[in-house]
Amino acid sequence: MEKLAILGGAPVRETPISYGRQYIDEADIQAVVETLKSPWLTCGPKIEELEKKLCEITGAKYAVAVSNGTAALHLAAMVAGIGEGDEVIVSPITFAASANCVRYCGGTPVFADIKDDTYNIDPACIRKLVTERTKAVVAVDFTGQAVELDEIRAICQERQLMLIEDAAHAIGTKYQGQPVGSIADMTCFSFHPVKTVTGGEGGAITTNDEALYRKLHLLRAHGITRDMEEMVHPTDAPWYNEQVMLGYNYRMTDFQAALLLSQLDKLPMFTARRKEIVDMYDEAFREVPEIQVQREIPESDTTRHLYILRLRTERLKCDRRQFFDALGAENIRSQVHYLPVYWHSYYEKLGYEKGLCPNAEAYYESSMSLPLYYSLTDEEVADVIRAVKKLIAYYKK
Ligand SMILES: *Cc1c(COP(=O)(O)O)cnc(C)c1O
Repeated sequence: MEKLAILGGAPVRETPISYGRQYIDEADIQAVVETLKSPWLTCGPKIEELEKKLCEITGAKYAVAVSNGTAALHLAAMVAGIGEGDEVIVSPITFAASANCVRYCGGTPVFADIKDDTYNIDPACIRKLVTERTKAVVAVDFTGQAVELDEIRAICQERQLMLIEDAAHAIGTKYQGQPVGSIADMTCFSFHPVKTVTGGEGGAITTNDEALYRKLHLLRAHGITRDMEEMVHPTDAPWYNEQVMLGYNYRMTDFQAALLLSQLDKLPMFTARRKEIVDMYDEAFREVPEIQVQREIPESDTTRHLYILRLRTERLKCDRRQFFDALGAENIRSQVHYLPVYWHSYYEKLGYEKGLCPNAEAYYESSMSLPLYYSLTDEEVADVIRAVKKLIAYYKK
């Protein structure tokens, strides 16, 4: 209550809005219900249908649907051949799973700094960190904006590194007109409810490489195959299946796939609305000297997952924490994406130290995410803008 007193008066909004939420319509519900009434709850036709649709949307040759985005990253890291002693270059401003997938395989994440204006991994920093031990790069399309794929691909080709694109934020985004999902060696998606389209939980890996696809497909379901060509001891016995690798149960259910298929029908609509909201925020904040607006590279046609409010804290009498709390008191519930991954105590214990990526750390200290989702109304966007401007007016030096 003290927070309200600081700024005085009633909050800008009476009811709180959060930074993200899913949009489920009647068609989504019907799609799930139909699948629940079908013979197939898992391992059924909806999975292949979803994979086909993901190929259409991304332009990739192959897609493998999995239980969540973290499973997608884990399988991609395995198939990239990451093991003990291998280094993988990762962005520090991301959800921990982008680096954890390297740890699952016994490898060492090496954090490359971000650019101060796009907040995406800096190709020049990647280049400096490549060693004899580097096996792969995990590049994160942070907020949905595509990373600088031309530059990063050139480094990967030159040094024979596998490029894994973490596109958990970026379904629908295009790079130089080409959809994300068909550009890197493997691209990983997440369909968690806060992402642009959801299956409740869910994930996928897309690739153009048949050998990678076959391994991903095997590892999703225990490493067990019914394909005689993949067997060491082939037989046509109808009951026979053979485990040829150590895989997992990372399957998605058919009712999740049905929900996702229905959600993907709305992707163009979701993209268009998200762009409108981003434009409204950008226009409102571009002229505010206390706010830094995220720079978009011209190559990226972005379906934005997150809208970052970055404060120029040197021009303000408050820090990010005070601004965040005051915004909350106005009933705008923001979130911070993300703590630099190596600041987590798990990574600290592994020996990573603060100061590693100065741009990432400065970004973290000054940023928060504003509400951005399909069903956010123009009035709500206007409220968010009013609240932010009210706080800026109060706190500016
Ligand atoms: C959400 C997310 C993931 C993990 O996806 P889950 O489906 O929650 O496992 C990985 N990377 C990034 C950048 C994400 O935002």
